[in-house]
Amino acid sequence: MALYKTEGIVVRTRNLGEADRIITLYTRDRGKVEGVARGSRRARSRLMGATQLFTYGNYLMYSGRSLDTISQAEIQESFAGLRNDLIKMAHASYIAELLDLSVEPEEPSEDLFALLYESFTALDQDKPPEIVLRWFELHLMVLLGYQPELRHCVGCGSVASEARFSVREGGLLCPRCLSKDPTAIAVRPSTIQWMKQLMLAPAQRLGVMRPSLDDSQALETVGRAYIDYRLARPLKSLDFLASIKDLA
Ligand SMILES: [Zn+2]
Repeated sequence: MALYKTEGIVVRTRNLGEADRIITLYTRDRGKVEGVARGSRRARSRLMGATQLFTYGNYLMYSGRSLDTISQAEIQESFAGLRNDLIKMAHASYIAELLDLSVEPEEPSEDLFALLYESFTALDQDKPPEIVLRWFELHLMVLLGYQPELRHCVGCGSVASEARFSVREGGLLCPRCLSKDPTAIAVRPSTIQWMKQLMLAPAQRLGVMRPSLDDSQALETVGRAYIDYRLARPLKSLDFLASIKDLA
């Protein structure tokens, strides 16, 4: 059995048997990996802290035939704030699940790791959670090769004014090209501007971005539709997010 060291963020946990836990890590150097943390649900387990959801840690793993085993783990950053606050937890769960569903195992991307880390940090630092989600979604799409075209019509290349957003075609459609996708979503120019700004903004800027309520809702509608079109199955964390909104 080969031993390897990696650093990563826990994006999913599942209980196994009485005291074990299977965790999914998004690691900096290996992409998504899964490992079993034996006994980690016992109160005195050395693995308990570092195998909690959202934790960023260093892991020493044995690669097994079907499943890797976590032999040692230490916390780099607990991100406890994301577990102790229901609103932050709902938003972090969405980010973690979306990343988990969007990538195949062991396809490393340092940029995706950085995106995950910066998104969790922004939530932890009380940046507006809705903005963090929209920022994460757009950057995730860019990194996966689905950067939406927001300047020109994807049909004819003209500078698109009075355009609609086509989820299927991946960008704006001018009125003349609308027959390519009659389901394209009507969006206001201000919403498109916000999408452009979110794609350019570093995470540190998310605290000062304040789209209007209309634009926030439109950003969510477009972002969610764009993501859903490319996902194999619906996200479970959406129900959690919706229930949080009912509380607010
Ligand atoms: Zn056109």
